[in-house]
Amino acid sequence: MGRYAYFQGQVVPVEEARVSIMTHAFNYGTGCFEGIRAYWNDEHQQLYVFRMREHYERMLDSCKILRIEPQQSVEDLEAITLEVLRRNGDREDVYIRPLFYKSEMAVGVRLHGLAHDFALFAVPFGPYIDVERPIRCRVSSWRHVTDVMIPMRAKICGSYVNAALAKSEAAEDGYDEAIFLTTDGHVSEGSAENLFIVRRGKLITTPVYEDILEGITRATVIQLAQEVLGIEVEERPIDRTELYVADEVFLVGTGAQVSAVGEVDHRRVGRGEMGPITRRIQTLYFDTVKGRVEAFRHWLTPVYQG
Ligand code: PMP
Repeated sequence: MGRYAYFQGQVVPVEEARVSIMTHAFNYGTGCFEGIRAYWNDEHQQLYVFRMREHYERMLDSCKILRIEPQQSVEDLEAITLEVLRRNGDREDVYIRPLFYKSEMAVGVRLHGLAHDFALFAVPFGPYIDVERPIRCRVSSWRHVTDVMIPMRAKICGSYVNAALAKSEAAEDGYDEAIFLTTDGHVSEGSAENLFIVRRGKLITTPVYEDILEGITRATVIQLAQEVLGIEVEERPIDRTELYVADEVFLVGTGAQVSAVGEVDHRRVGRGEMGPITRRIQTLYFDTVKGRVEAFRHWLTPVYQG
């Protein structure tokens, strides 16, 4: 079965969704994107898109920062997504990648006065990083871009070169993932994940002013921890060495889901195993995204009718 994409205002076979080498975004990284997951529930014979509205709300914020004025509303973008997913007809977990990008074929660095387009594709997708085994991390030698360089509040294509530098450094040195520090040396986030630590039974995560992406999984985990598990959550700066002495560390994101960190910079985190709080959060997260938690079904949009 062929795969479909949305490109230049219509659903087309994915092979036909091509940009020119002169496309502005291809040259300068002047686009923004989202990563959304849809989960297959075998019992319900249904594919559920997780928190689609929140992803498109964030995407419209990214557009504002990038001087893109979309014609489409959140509802329009949701409808396009469902149309592509239905045409693809997947009956397994899927990763959805919408993009707004400067589509003009123009030479010259700027944001203003350039045409844009909306494109979307979706691919079957398993785990992005290990969720069964605790992963090994290093603190990156690269510092995270800041709000006065490339704002992380927007999910801008070009800023992922910063993430890629850190990820490749970590991977080629034999680690699973990189953890960024901010310019002034606080913990920021992973290359594509927000970060939580557990100390003395309390969950701590870096505040949004530490140059993190305002993650939807982060918000989900905070709400699940507080409302369902009754765990206290604190948002405050985290020092590098707190990663070494924390009882538990874990990374969260749409791609990463909830992934335990077993080692940072050759220091074992806790016992080096998935900690009890991480495990409870991971289990609840997977139950929620798969549609097994009634109280949070409003976060899911079913793809198939009837
Ligand atoms: N930080 C960065 C840099 C990311 O790329 C991602 C993945 N989108 C996240 C955090 C997690 O965000 P979310 O939970 O919204 O996917």
